[in-house]
Amino acid sequence: MSLPIYLDYAASTPVATEVVDAMTVALRSPALQANPSAGTHAAGRQAAVVVELARAQVAGLIGADPDEVIFTSGATEADNLAIIGAARFREAQGRHLVTALTEHKAVIESVRYLARQGWRVTWLKPDAGGRIGPDAVLAALEPETVLVSIMHVNNETGTIQDVGGIGSVCRERGVLLHVDAAQSAGRLPIDVRDLHIDLLSLSGHKLYGPKGVGALFIDRERVRRVEPLLFGGGQERGLRPGTLATHQSIGLGEACRLAGERLVPDRSHVTGLRDDLWSRLRDVPGVLLNGDPEHTAGHILNVSVEGVEGESLHAGLGELAVASGAACTSLTDEPSYVLRVLGRSATLARSSVRFSFGRPTTRADIERAAGIFVRTVDSLRRQSPALPPRLPEPPKGAMLVRGEAGSAEAGTWVVFSGWVQDGRVSHLEAQVFGCPDTRLACDRVVHLLAGGGRAQISGLDPLALGQTLGIPLAKAGRLLIIQDALRNCLADWDNGS
Ligand SMILES: *Cc1c(COP(=O)(O)O)cnc(C)c1O
Repeated sequence: MSLPIYLDYAASTPVATEVVDAMTVALRSPALQANPSAGTHAAGRQAAVVVELARAQVAGLIGADPDEVIFTSGATEADNLAIIGAARFREAQGRHLVTALTEHKAVIESVRYLARQGWRVTWLKPDAGGRIGPDAVLAALEPETVLVSIMHVNNETGTIQDVGGIGSVCRERGVLLHVDAAQSAGRLPIDVRDLHIDLLSLSGHKLYGPKGVGALFIDRERVRRVEPLLFGGGQERGLRPGTLATHQSIGLGEACRLAGERLVPDRSHVTGLRDDLWSRLRDVPGVLLNGDPEHTAGHILNVSVEGVEGESLHAGLGELAVASGAACTSLTDEPSYVLRVLGRSATLARSSVRFSFGRPTTRADIERAAGIFVRTVDSLRRQSPALPPRLPEPPKGAMLVRGEAGSAEAGTWVVFSGWVQDGRVSHLEAQVFGCPDTRLACDRVVHLLAGGGRAQISGLDPLALGQTLGIPLAKAGRLLIIQDALRNCLADWDNGS
């Protein structure tokens, strides 16, 4: 068994060799073991020097000054600190925020936290591609608005937001703009001055740096301060106290330096791969592109597939490490809220696949991924209840029975059809739109009922069958749909005879 093809660079990137080397040197070097805040001795000052160098490298990637960058544990913490910290610091000016329904959870949950504390929030709904016009932001601004938080590139679709246009609007009205740039930093050019960004979050592990480190840019003049979320020894100007992680800072700095150097070739590499994959998938009927086809970052291709159930689709893509909208694989039960906001049905949100590409991805990876995807979709569709059943020639004097239950919208849709002859099932076939467990149970049903009569059908208990097969109790509802389909089969049989 070969390893799955890794196509999940939007979730995390491997650490670049250069970064590993820089971090290893830092971790091994006796000269860099002191606390960077220990200014009273040379060892501490030496550690501080390399941390400040790293800070300058981070600042350099986004056109900021080094003293405007503070290290955090990642983009999640940076988002929390930017939003909660800035809102609290400016509380006297008003308690209204503007953000979008398609933001990352780190933003959404920070805003929801403030909403529970009494802040009012305007949640902007983007267009079908995921874009929000600066005029929509303008229209949402109120005299009490203190902060707008809009991400640069969406982590599910790759859609690029017009942050520069939104920044101009915010600046004109004296409202702060926070941008979650976890997906764009190191992938797109960013200049915080040109784009009028006041606060910006980025993450190490999205740009070939280590996990567990990120940064928040805070515009020195326009923001001045945010209320800290942590309290302690006063490091990072008191905004993010705690001993600075020398090796993590160095890793992030080196990753930012490298990303800045490789910005253009990296982007053209992933964009080429994305275009290649899309050219191979776009002609498959019912494959829909999610996100804005024009304003796209290039490292993400997100598609939904019509007529295919999400969990089975994902299971069929087992050789690919991709992100999926299907409930069984994500942390929450909701199929992608981002795709739902963009107008996709729950079924299409579940049958979505996010491919994302990075430096190590090759053309051969794309070719193989496309082949696996096309074969999986094809094989699932051949079993669809929407097609006529593929029954053999009927035996002499046989009667057709058919029983159907569920629907694609409900996530489970089952049709049994077969020939009955002399009171026995001579051939039975199941057509299934459903999760792998439902398929497994249907296969067993077909096997168990071969040659059986009415009594076998009515006596078959799908819940007990599910237990035998080790199907989780949470899927009992799907098993009951199988039972309904069998009952309808019996009713059909009774009608016909
Ligand atoms: C990954 C990601 C985050 C979270 O970053 P961490 O460093 O993992 O906390 C936040 N926002 C977006 C858009 C992301 O893609």
